[in-house]
Amino acid sequence: MRTQTLNVDLHCHSTASDGLLPPKEVAQRAAANGVQLWALTDHDELSGLDEARAEAQKLGMQFISGVEISVTWAGRTVHIVGLNVEDHQTQINDELAYIRAGREQRAKEIGDKLTGLGIKNAYEGALRYVSNPSLISRTHFARFLVEEGYCANMGEVFKRYLGDHKAAFVPMQWATLAQSVHWIREAGGKAIIAHPGRYEFTPVQFGALFDEFKALGGVGIEVVTGSHRPDQYAEYAQVAKHYGFEISCGSDFHAPGEGRLDLGTLPPSPAGLPTVWDEWLG
Ligand code: AMP
Ligand code: MN
Ligand code: MN
Ligand code: MN
Repeated sequence: MRTQTLNVDLHCHSTASDGLLPPKEVAQRAAANGVQLWALTDHDELSGLDEARAEAQKLGMQFISGVEISVTWAGRTVHIVGLNVEDHQTQINDELAYIRAGREQRAKEIGDKLTGLGIKNAYEGALRYVSNPSLISRTHFARFLVEEGYCANMGEVFKRYLGDHKAAFVPMQWATLAQSVHWIREAGGKAIIAHPGRYEFTPVQFGALFDEFKALGGVGIEVVTGSHRPDQYAEYAQVAKHYGFEISCGSDFHAPGEGRLDLGTLPPSPAGLPTVWDEWLG
């Protein structure tokens, strides 16, 4: 007998941050790919959610309001996904605007560093890809560098230039872990550690991150995500079990042809673990 699993995708991006499709088209692509429970989770930004929700409703998809908050923890960037947040709540909107505010200055400094490395006009080039003026991101620089032939693909850009502490990296102070969890909880949502397998922490640091996150009221961790290699699914399922986290999943889709997984094409999540979405199912 075949078991029918629900098609769940709770992590992706639109033109409200560093995705290439407007929220409406992300919704359409998710629906076309069979997604039944969907969240849009733009970086530090809630402005795409109304359009996404309206289109999801039209298409008969259950919609969850989401966000992916940039956090600095132990000197590194960590992403915390908030799901089921009240997106018209004032505090989270004000706080996210504050977090976004340093991006333009940082982008100019990235441009200067790239100029120093012989890559001219990268700031102006990145701006050509920016759809939300308050959200210029490393992704926009990466698209420019690939388009201009400086690197073969986005992965190479991060490896050579833009990854943490690489040649054109400019450090940022994002939100604290405590702030991100607090804002999400105040907005009625669940806080989830995004793609833990991407962080270059030691085992001791990972333990401290998970303990602190749990103590702050964080509840979930992504296991199946387009930002993990398949061998990391089992690893983080074990972490979820050990810490008593609910599991979440999402493609981390940004644009057609970019990234490991398209919307709605995730392998099934490991069975037998509580999920963040169990309680949202109608
Ligand atoms: P920022 O928010 O400006 O620091 O940019 C972070 C974004 O860069 C992430 O949300 C991803 O979309 C992208 N990114 C980070 N690392 C990589 C990578 N290794 N390959 C491709 N994209 C990446
Ligand atoms: Mn991104
Ligand atoms: Mn992320
Ligand atoms: Mn993401």
